[in-house]
Amino acid sequence: MKKPVKDMSLMQDDSDNIVMFYPHVSKLAKTSVMEVLDTRWIGQGPKVKLFENSFSKKFASNLPSIAVGSGTDALHLSYILAGLKPGDEVIAPVFTCTATNIPFLYMGIKILFADIDSNTMNIDVKHVNQLMNKNVKAIICVHYGGLPCEMDELQSIADEWGIPIIEDAAHAVGAKYKGLSVGSISDFTMFSFQAIKHITTGDGGMLVVKNKDLIDKAERIRWFGIDRKAKQAGIWENDITEIGYKYQMTDIAAAMGIASIKEFDEVSRLRKKLFKVYSDELTGYDRVKIVGNDFEDREHAAWLFTIIVDDRFRLQEKLRENKIESNQVHFRNDRYSIFNDFTSGKAFPNMDKIEDKYLVLPLHTMMNEDDVRRVCKVIKSGW
Ligand SMILES: *Cc1c(COP(=O)(O)O)cnc(C)c1O
Repeated sequence: MKKPVKDMSLMQDDSDNIVMFYPHVSKLAKTSVMEVLDTRWIGQGPKVKLFENSFSKKFASNLPSIAVGSGTDALHLSYILAGLKPGDEVIAPVFTCTATNIPFLYMGIKILFADIDSNTMNIDVKHVNQLMNKNVKAIICVHYGGLPCEMDELQSIADEWGIPIIEDAAHAVGAKYKGLSVGSISDFTMFSFQAIKHITTGDGGMLVVKNKDLIDKAERIRWFGIDRKAKQAGIWENDITEIGYKYQMTDIAAAMGIASIKEFDEVSRLRKKLFKVYSDELTGYDRVKIVGNDFEDREHAAWLFTIIVDDRFRLQEKLRENKIESNQVHFRNDRYSIFNDFTSGKAFPNMDKIEDKYLVLPLHTMMNEDDVRRVCKVIKSGW
């Protein structure tokens, strides 16, 4: 047997290595940023407003959007706007980026972790139903990899209990559920523009808020609790009556965002094409199960292509021997000590089933269809 590959660190991207992720920065984004650097506004200024408006139009059926410094900021802001208070309970998936759940620790909120559906790695609606009780004040769902969750089912639970749904759509910009854009469905939807997401502003995020009455508050909370318009008038009209923070986006970042929206369709088409080549190549190969594939009623945003395999570590090594990176990307949150108060003694049988089997394959705009075929060929040669 071959010796295990010890070095699993990041690969160089300067040869024929196929790396996991690569940021997508267009020429247009570069010139837009240069233009901003010559203006009066480099922090939060007019470009942020323009970015919000064009994002709303493109992805959120014109619902109001609030641009912030990161997806994590957008989540934290949504939890505040949803009125969550210390001692409240929320239901959130056990499998997600830690950013989904970390703000709850700051807010003194009790997390009821829900298991996932092992075919999609999205939140398991049955478990959500079991966890519901009168102390639960919000349901958070994550569209893993870009596949929308069971929104109708979640919405009917939320309606029954009169609580909001908060979508973590960090993976799902451009996804659709039953014809509706993710971003136009629930009370709150959060997007991330972190370096390797579909749209990047270096770091950044967007919160789409259905209830227009919350927008003024959202803008104040984004800026310490201060009414910026009153402040910019240069007069004292600025008592702070609610605790805000500094969540705002800069015009430098917004300029990148505006440029990225202009070429989003092209990026999305390529990502979906690569996803489809993976899916076509690996469908029917019985050692590989594809996560979240082949749904008729929803459109996958193709952020991650994830497979379930036995002997995952050996496959990772084999890919690595062939100059291909692979990774798990996210880990079940009950493995992190910071969540111990909410996880001890809890069972997540669906997560257990695939914990040692899921693997994410490279998918980004520096790849072409032949790169995907090369990855699939290595996989189909066995491991
Ligand atoms: C990237 C990501 C976040 C956090 O977004 P940031 O912009 O990095 O703060 C949250 N949730 C999920 C599922 C993510 O993938």
